[in-house]
Amino acid sequence: MALVLVSCNSNENNKKNSSENAFEAKVDSILNLMTLEEKLGQLNLPSSGDITTGASQSSDIAKKIEEGKVGGLFNIKSVAKIREVQKIAVEKSRLGIPLIFGMDVIHGYETTFPIPLGLSASWDMGMIKKTAQMAAKEATADGINWTFSPMVDISRDPRWGRVSEGSGEDVYLGSEIAKAMVNGYQGEDLTLDNTMLACVKHFALYGAPEAGRDYNTVDMSRIRMYNEYLPPYKAAIDEGVGSVMASFNEIDGVPATGNKWLLTDLLRDDWGFNGFVVTDYTGINEMIAHGMGDLQQSSALALKAGIDMDMVGEGLLTTLKKSLDEGKVDMSDIDTAVKRILKAKYQIGLFDDPYKYCDLERPKTDVFTDENRTFARQVSAESMVLLKNENNLLPLKKSGTIALIGPLANSAVNMAGTWSVATKQEKSNPLLEGLKTVVGDQANILYAKGSNVDYDLAFEKRITMFGKDIPRDDRTDKQLLDEALAIAKKSDVILAAIGETAELSGESSSVTNLQIPQAQKDLLSALLKTGKPVVLVLFTGRPLAIVDENENVPAILNVWFPGSEAGLAISDVLFGDVNPSGKLTATWPMNVGQVPIFYNQKNTGRPLGNKEGKFEKFKSNYLDVRNEPLYPFGYGLSYTSFDYSNLRLDKTSIDMNGKIQVSVDVTNSGDFDGKEVVQLYIRDLVGSVTRPVKELKGFQKVEIKKGDTKTVSFTISVEDLKFYNYDLDFVAEPGTFQVFVGTDSTTEMMKTFELIN
Ligand code: BGC
Repeated sequence: MALVLVSCNSNENNKKNSSENAFEAKVDSILNLMTLEEKLGQLNLPSSGDITTGASQSSDIAKKIEEGKVGGLFNIKSVAKIREVQKIAVEKSRLGIPLIFGMDVIHGYETTFPIPLGLSASWDMGMIKKTAQMAAKEATADGINWTFSPMVDISRDPRWGRVSEGSGEDVYLGSEIAKAMVNGYQGEDLTLDNTMLACVKHFALYGAPEAGRDYNTVDMSRIRMYNEYLPPYKAAIDEGVGSVMASFNEIDGVPATGNKWLLTDLLRDDWGFNGFVVTDYTGINEMIAHGMGDLQQSSALALKAGIDMDMVGEGLLTTLKKSLDEGKVDMSDIDTAVKRILKAKYQIGLFDDPYKYCDLERPKTDVFTDENRTFARQVSAESMVLLKNENNLLPLKKSGTIALIGPLANSAVNMAGTWSVATKQEKSNPLLEGLKTVVGDQANILYAKGSNVDYDLAFEKRITMFGKDIPRDDRTDKQLLDEALAIAKKSDVILAAIGETAELSGESSSVTNLQIPQAQKDLLSALLKTGKPVVLVLFTGRPLAIVDENENVPAILNVWFPGSEAGLAISDVLFGDVNPSGKLTATWPMNVGQVPIFYNQKNTGRPLGNKEGKFEKFKSNYLDVRNEPLYPFGYGLSYTSFDYSNLRLDKTSIDMNGKIQVSVDVTNSGDFDGKEVVQLYIRDLVGSVTRPVKELKGFQKVEIKKGDTKTVSFTISVEDLKFYNYDLDFVAEPGTFQVFVGTDSTTEMMKTFELIN
């Protein structure tokens, strides 16, 4: 029976040009054969648990698969294991329906790119798309055909550890990146064996938890949702993403997992999504703690709301029969969900060939190849953001003696950053190794750890989990420092490799202190006191409040967590083989009290009137800190300088069908060839609802040789001027618009035009 089912459905209808109807017919033909238990099995997505190669046959999961109680599996790595497990499904379960295999392939697979927040700082959509393509190629070679990515949650709160996994605070940039990622993973043809199904997450608003605490309550107005948080999810849907993951948080008082307005009215009816929706990890079970009732009730609510697949919790598997008997759900609700899962399996070609992602030879040629690693090295360098460079301390010369000091200087396992499930952590190159490789025998590299990650051992343990260890040094703080100072004295320049560890950001890694851990701050102060030039090589997964460091350290290069080629890529930038061009995609605050802080804020009725940011009584400001952040959205330096001039519009007014062309001349006025991210913002001066003081509406990353000038042009159409009004209609309103162009979101270079009816 099993084999018949697979082969009778293997035909060209699985190609992308198959019509919806063909899918439907196939899916219906299987559905008709299924028992209720088998249907519920398709909705079940366990984690792979105890499966090890060779032992899969006897595992608990194997038994469930044989009984038809599993629709897909995740967290299983290696093509050999996946092949074995797929064989159980195809040959031993009654209907032989193949499993879908998921994984958090977030920023690369074994070849690991920078954390997503870092990737976004490249502002290079072609490159970001290529990272997703390469991740898909590697993951599919290893048996995975479904990734839980992209995460497109907008966040304005660096306390929330998962800012590291997203693309920052801006809804326009976030939407562009969402499209690039979906396109990269899924490609033009999902049936190819090197493309995979994407899953946009976490739907929705997961990046706005109260107090920045992970999993916490979210509460926001619809108008803010529509204008400032929902567009990146919608962009992914419009790009054809195959699946959606519901978020853990509540929305309007109902957990997303059980929120019918969200998962059906908005997602399916308004946006036209026709893929499947999976819960986040035990999302249904967590509805019990949210106060939505017991597992049976929560499961029925979730199914009715629009959930199709249940990650780990088995609520759908174990309770829906009872709910069906009691009339709490209908068979049609179950059938709808099953059909969506089966359809996805068709889409990726599993009914054509259940083993199409199970070629045991492919990992040898497709995974962690030299070609992929060379690309990762370029990507990492493109993501780095030069925050400060007094007196052009950087780039360094490959000569003399360089002291590399800090607990992050020689930690391979921390380089990939958070959510790097498939990475072979120990294969990443740490900075010490990269430096030595890049300078060869041209310079002398000395190394000392200098300090532990933090004084607080318990805290240090919490931020070095999952094998991302930085073993605690048994020497005293003084002994560690003395060793560092001794090599510092012998050096011409000090590189301080400090900041966060990989697990200080990511899931369940919220903080209330945005400073560098104190032990490392103290180390940095001691290094500065030597009088030697110090470059801070800053590792972080979130915007940090580094006011002291900005004040005292002459050069700061923010490297995020750069991925598997970290050390080489950082060295490329430090020595000027690559001129840094990354720009921040999330605002860096002065202190945690400014949070949430973001550039596209509203003006208030009492905006501060002076440009210097001086305190004014009865205006919207703080007594103790200015309103401005430490580093604004869009900010990032280069080894060269760019001058903007001659901003011009081709018209002064447009009508509702019109377009306006904006041009600016950008001159590379410094001593290095370089890349600049030219940014365009608008402001809608008067609206039926209040509008932000600036909104990003375009950007271009351009390469300009030293001494050259390039004209950069943008086209603004009426679509770009639209927003959701009070009635949540998407409209452009006539009136005056300002257009700003410049190097970051603080630019004041501006022209105006009118939109007329
Ligand atoms: C995370 C998701 C992830 C899932 C599966 C959850 O804890 O919130 O982002 O995809 O686990 O690993």
